[in-house]
Amino acid sequence: MTPGDTFEDTACQDVVELITDYLGATLSAEQTAAIEAHLDECDGCKAYLDQVRATIGLLASMPSEALSDQTFATLMRAFKEQR
Ligand SMILES: [Zn+2]
Repeated sequence: MTPGDTFEDTACQDVVELITDYLGATLSAEQTAAIEAHLDECDGCKAYLDQVRATIGLLASMPSEALSDQTFATLMRAFKEQR
């Protein structure tokens, strides 16, 4: 978090945009820290993260249906459109 940054509505959009990268652990340490700081203070984004995680966990637990990149991308697009 840099001084002057405020985590308001724009930050929520950033979190939604970065959530898949966050879950995939491909973000920089700074981005990860910023998202976690936001999640600490934002119930909406926390609920969103839980929902995404639960869905990914569900898909990942399906034995015959491997979670392809495309399935994943489609799923993430659907999540984003919900907001
Ligand atoms: Zn938020």
